[in-house]
Amino acid sequence: MISLGIECSADKLGIGIVDVNGNILANIRKTYKPPHGSGIHPREASEFHSNNMSQAIDDAFKQASIKPRTIDLVSFTKGPGLGPCLRVGAVTARTLSLALNKPLMAVNHPIAHVEIGRLVGELNDPVVLYVSGGNTQIIAFSEGRYRVFGETIDIPIGNCLDVFGRNVGLSDQQMPMGRVIELKAKEGKNYISFPYVIKGMDVSFSGILTHATRLYESNKYSIEDLSYSLQETVFSMLVEVTERALAHTKKSEVLVTGGVASNKRLKEMLNEMTSSHGAIFSGLDADLALDNGAMIAWLGLIMKGAGDKTDFEDTLVDQHFRPEEVEVTWR
Ligand code: AMP
Ligand code: MG
Repeated sequence: MISLGIECSADKLGIGIVDVNGNILANIRKTYKPPHGSGIHPREASEFHSNNMSQAIDDAFKQASIKPRTIDLVSFTKGPGLGPCLRVGAVTARTLSLALNKPLMAVNHPIAHVEIGRLVGELNDPVVLYVSGGNTQIIAFSEGRYRVFGETIDIPIGNCLDVFGRNVGLSDQQMPMGRVIELKAKEGKNYISFPYVIKGMDVSFSGILTHATRLYESNKYSIEDLSYSLQETVFSMLVEVTERALAHTKKSEVLVTGGVASNKRLKEMLNEMTSSHGAIFSGLDADLALDNGAMIAWLGLIMKGAGDKTDFEDTLVDQHFRPEEVEVTWR
C-alpha cells in the first residue's frame, strides 16, 4: 500500500509518498517566502501553494518513480493551520481522490509530526516537544489519545524568535530566522535577566518578546547578548515543562520535532535533561522535522491500516484541530 500526503498548513507546501513499510519514496517541499521584513500572509501563502501544487505533485511522482494510479490513498492535513492554506490542500486531496478513484484520509498535523518521529527515530512511546513557527506543544500518549500536557498560551516559540529577529532588523534570505538568532546567540557572552513565564504546565512568550524588543530599543545591549539570553530563557522554559511531563508520565523517551528542533542549543539542553532521567533523547533531521508531506502520508497510512476512514463529507478543514480529538486506533 502506498500513500500520497499533502501538507500545506502554513508557509510550506509538502508532497510526500510513503509505502506501508515506512519507506519514504518522495518528500518534496516548496516554501513560500514573505516579502522582506514581514510575516506569513495567509492568502499569499495559499496562492503560492495553488500555483506550485501541480509541479510539486509531478516532482513527487518523479522522485518516487511511480505512476499516479499506483497510490492507494490520498492523505492530507485537516488542521490545525491557516485556513486559506489548509483549504488548498483539502481541495487538491479531494480532486486527486476523485480523479484517481482512491480513498481519502484527513489527518491531524501535530500527530503526524509525532508518528514520523516514532518511525524514523525507532521510538516506542516518547514524550514529544513539538516546537515550530505555528505550534508549541508537549504531547504524550495516554489512555488511547495523544494528550497535550503543556502548550503556549499565546504565540508559538518559532513565532517569538521570528518576530524578535524582524524587530531587531535581522534577516537572511538563505536561512530561517531561528537559525540566524542561533548564530548570533553563539557569540553572546553576557546573560541578561528575562522574565521566565510558566503557568502550570503552559508557557507564554509574548511578554518575553516585548521585553526583548524593548531591551534592544534601549540601545544598551548587543544583539548577540540579547539573542543568547532570549534563547537560554525560552528553551529553559520548554525543557522544564518537557521534564515535568516526562517525570509525570514515567516514559523513557523524549523526541523533539518542528522547525525549532533544528536548534543545536535546544537539543543539547534537552539531551542533558533526558539523560539525567535515564531516558533516550531523539531529534529528527530538518527534512522530517520541518513541515513535510511524508509525515502526512505516513499517518494516513497507519490510520488506514487500523481501519480508519474519512468520508468525503468529512474533508472540511479545521484550523483549530487538536490532537486529543483523534481517537488513536493504530496503537
Ligand atoms: P516549521 O513551522 O516547523 O516549518 O518551522 C519553522 C520555524 O522554525 C520558524 O519559526 C524558524 O525560525 C524556526 N527555526 C528554523 N531553524 C531554527 C533554528 N536553527 N533555531 C531555532 N529556530 C529555528
Ligand atoms: Mg508543523
